[in-house]
Amino acid sequence: MLKSFLPPMKISLNTQIFLGALAGVVFGITLGHSALPSALCRHFLFGFDILGKIFINLLKMIMIPLVFSSITAGIANLKNSPQSGRIWPTLIFYSLTTTALAAITGLTAMNLIKPGVGLDIHLFKESMSSFQPNSISIGDSFRHFVDTIFMNPLAAMSQNNILAVVVFAVFLGIALVVLDKKSQTVLNLVNELFEITMTIVRWIMRLAPWGIMGLITNLIAQQNVQLLFVLSKYILVVVSTTLFHGLITLPIILWLITKISPLKFFFAMKEALITAFSTSSSTATLPVSLRCITENLKIDKHIARFVLPVGAILNMDGTAMYEAMAALFVANLCGAHLSLVSEIIVVLTAMTASIGAPGIPSAGMVTMILVLQSVGLPAQAVAILIAIDRPLDTIRTVVNVEGDCIGACVVQKIVSTASPID
Ligand code: ASP
Repeated sequence: MLKSFLPPMKISLNTQIFLGALAGVVFGITLGHSALPSALCRHFLFGFDILGKIFINLLKMIMIPLVFSSITAGIANLKNSPQSGRIWPTLIFYSLTTTALAAITGLTAMNLIKPGVGLDIHLFKESMSSFQPNSISIGDSFRHFVDTIFMNPLAAMSQNNILAVVVFAVFLGIALVVLDKKSQTVLNLVNELFEITMTIVRWIMRLAPWGIMGLITNLIAQQNVQLLFVLSKYILVVVSTTLFHGLITLPIILWLITKISPLKFFFAMKEALITAFSTSSSTATLPVSLRCITENLKIDKHIARFVLPVGAILNMDGTAMYEAMAALFVANLCGAHLSLVSEIIVVLTAMTASIGAPGIPSAGMVTMILVLQSVGLPAQAVAILIAIDRPLDTIRTVVNVEGDCIGACVVQKIVSTASPID
C-alpha cells in the first residue's frame, strides 16, 4: 500500500552499494569515535556486525560450489579452442611478473622512506611477549602444502580447502576434455551447476549494500586510533605504495596489452572492488568478480571461469607487496640492516608466501612469519602487524582482486587475436 504513495524510484545496485559503503563510513565514525553512550553503541555495532556476517557467510556458502563448477566447466568448455593450451603459461607468467613487480616496488618504497627507523620497539613489548608464533620452516610449509593440495574432494569441500578443490576441479575438467562425448552428461550437469550458483550469487548481491554497510561500520568503529597514529608513517607508505601498484602499474599493464581503458575497467569492476574492500577476502569476492567481468566487461566466460578462481589463489600482488614491506618495517624497528641478498630473499619468500596465502581476511599474517624467519627477523613482531592489519588488509585485497581481473583480460587478449571488448 505504501508503495502506491511513494514516487517510483529505481536506484541501481551499483549506486546502492556505493551508498551502503558511504553510510558505513559515517556510522563507523559516529559509533566508534563519538560521545554516544557505550551500551547503545555496542547494540548498534552488534546489529551491524550481524548484517556484515550474513552477507559474508552467504558469499562463503556459495564459494565452493562456484569454484568447483567454474573451473571444471571453464576447462571442459575450452576444449574446442585451439589456443586453450596457452592459458596456463600466460596466467603463470602474468602472475609471477606482476607479483614480483609488486614486491620489488614495496621494497623500494620502504628503502627510500624507511618508516619504523627510530620508533621504540619497546612500545610493543607487551603485545609481542604475549604472542606465540608457530615456527614454520620452508620445508615444513612445503610438506603442509603437499598434504593439503591433494585431498578427497568431499573432505576438501567440507573443510573449505579451496586449493584442493581447485586441483580436483582441474583434474575433472581435463578428464571431461579427454572423454569428450562420453562424458557429455556430466559436463551438462557441471554447466548447469555453474548457472545455478550464479543465480544464487545474483540474489546474494541484493543484500550487498546492507552487508557492506555493516562490515565497513564495524571496521571503522573498532580501530585503535592511537596505535594507527603511532604507526601512521608506515601505514601511509603502505597505503600509497599499494595504491601506486593498483592505480598506476596494473592499469598500465592492462592498457598496454589489451588496450582496455583503465577507467572503463574500474567502472565495470567497481562492485567487485568495493566487495573486496569490505570483506577483505578475495575468495569471498570471487562470485562478484566473476559476475562483473563477464557481464560488464564481456570477458569470455570460459576464460574468466578458469582464470579468476585460479588467480584468486596464485596471484596476490597486494599480499606479496605487503609482506615484503612489513618485513622491512620490522627490520627497521629492530635496527637490523638487511643486505641485498636478504632483500632478494624477502622478495622471493614474500612471493611464495602470497601464493600460499588463502584469499581470506588476514591470511597474509599467517604466511608473514615465513618471510620474517627467512631473514632471521623475530616472528613475534607479527603481533604489531596484526594489531593494524584489518584496515591494511582492505586495500591489499582490492589490489589482489584487481590483479586477478586484469589477469583475465590479459589472458583473453593473448590467447585470442580478437580484442576482449570494443
Ligand atoms: N585478505 C587477502 C585476500 O583475501 C589475503 C591477505 O593478504 O591477507 O586476498
